[in-house]
Amino acid sequence: MSGDDRVYDIGIVGGGPAGLSAAIWSARYLHSVALVDSGDPRNWQTRRINGILGLEGIRPAELRAAGRATSRELGVTLIDKIVLRVDKRDGDDFVLSLQGGVRLRSRRLLLAIGIRDVWPDIPGLAHVYGANAHVCPDCDGYASRGKKVVVIGNGRRAVGMALNLTTWTTDVIICTNGRSPELDEQEYCDKLDALNIPVLTDRITRVCYDGSAIHCLMLENGMQLDTDKVFFTIGQYPADDLGAQLGCDRDDEGHIEVDQHFHTSVANVFAAGDITPGAQLAIRAAAEGATAALSMHKSLVPEGRKLAPREKATSPA
Ligand SMILES: Cc1cc2nc3c(=O)[nH]c(=O)nc-3n(C[C@H](O)[C@H](O)[C@H](O)COP(=O)(O)OP(=O)(O)OC[C@H]3O[C@@H](n4cnc5c(N)ncnc54)[C@H](O)[C@@H]3O)c2cc1C
Repeated sequence: MSGDDRVYDIGIVGGGPAGLSAAIWSARYLHSVALVDSGDPRNWQTRRINGILGLEGIRPAELRAAGRATSRELGVTLIDKIVLRVDKRDGDDFVLSLQGGVRLRSRRLLLAIGIRDVWPDIPGLAHVYGANAHVCPDCDGYASRGKKVVVIGNGRRAVGMALNLTTWTTDVIICTNGRSPELDEQEYCDKLDALNIPVLTDRITRVCYDGSAIHCLMLENGMQLDTDKVFFTIGQYPADDLGAQLGCDRDDEGHIEVDQHFHTSVANVFAAGDITPGAQLAIRAAAEGATAALSMHKSLVPEGRKLAPREKATSPA
C-alpha cells in the first residue's frame, strides 16, 4: 500500500453538504484539509433541493460543484475515492486507507458519510424517484398539496409519515407492500381511522408512469391504486461502517451520536450531517459541517493562543 507522507490537520470523509461546508470552514482557518468522497450521495436523483436559504430549487450536483470549487480555491485537497478503513494509531493520528491502495493521515477526522434508504423492490420506482417518489415529507410534502399520496411502509414509521403528510393533503393511503401492518398500538389505528387513512397490505407489482408522472400502483390482487406521489419509509442505514470501525457510540438506527460540538464518543473524531441523529436536511447538514469545523479548529489551537474556560480561569477565594 502506498502512503501519502503528508499529515493533514483535518481529514474529512464525505463530500456532501456537511463535508464540503466543513472543508471550506476548516480551510478558512488555514488548516490543511483532505476531503475524500466516493460520489454517491443519498439525494442522487432528486430534481431540486427545497428549502435551502437563498438557493431554492438548486440541483444537488450544482450545490456540490459550487462547494467543490470553493474548496479548491481555498486549497482543500479533494480526493475522489472510497475510504475503506480508518485506523486510529494514537490520540490524534488517523490513517485513512483508500480504494486503490492510497493512504493518508490526519490529526482530526470528520465523518460526513451520510445515510442510505432501504428501497422497496418495486419495478418502476427508481424511474420516478426524486420527481414523484420521495423519502422525506419535510423536503417534498409541500409539493404534495391536495394530491393523492401513497405511503409505502409499515408500523410506526409508516403511520408517522402518513400523519405528517396530512399537513398537505387529506388523500393518504398506506400500503405495506406485502409486509405485516404492525399496527400494534391502539393509538395508530385510532389516528388513522380518525383521519380516514386506509391501510392496504397487498404487494405492489409495479409503478405505472408516464415520464416522471405517476399514474398508479399495480397491486398483486389486480387492483390499480391511483396516486400522484409515493413516499417510502422502510428503513435507513449508515452509508458506511467507519463509525462502527472506530468504536463511535451510535443510536439504534446506526446514527453516530455527537455532543453539541459534533464531537463523537471517540477523541478527535467528529461527525456531521445525516449520519448524526436529527432532521435530514441539506441546510442542517451544511450548518453541522460548519460547526464541526469550528470545533475541530478550536481543538487544534495551542493552549497558549486561547483563554482557559471561565471556570478554570477563576482563582479560588
Ligand atoms: C430524494 C431526496 C430528496 C431530498 N430533498 C431534500 C430537499 O428538498 N431539501 C433538503 O434540505 N434536503 C433534502 N434531502 C436531504 C439531503 O439531501 C440530505 O440531508 C443531505 O444530502 C445530507 O448531507 P450529508 O453531507 O450529510 O450526506 P450526503 O449528501 O449523503 O453525502 C455523503 C457523502 O459521503 C460519501 N461517502 C460515504 N461513505 C464514504 C466512504 N467510505 N468514503 C468516501 N466517501 C463516502 C458519499 O458518496 C456521499 O457523497 C433529500 C434527500 C433525498 C434522499
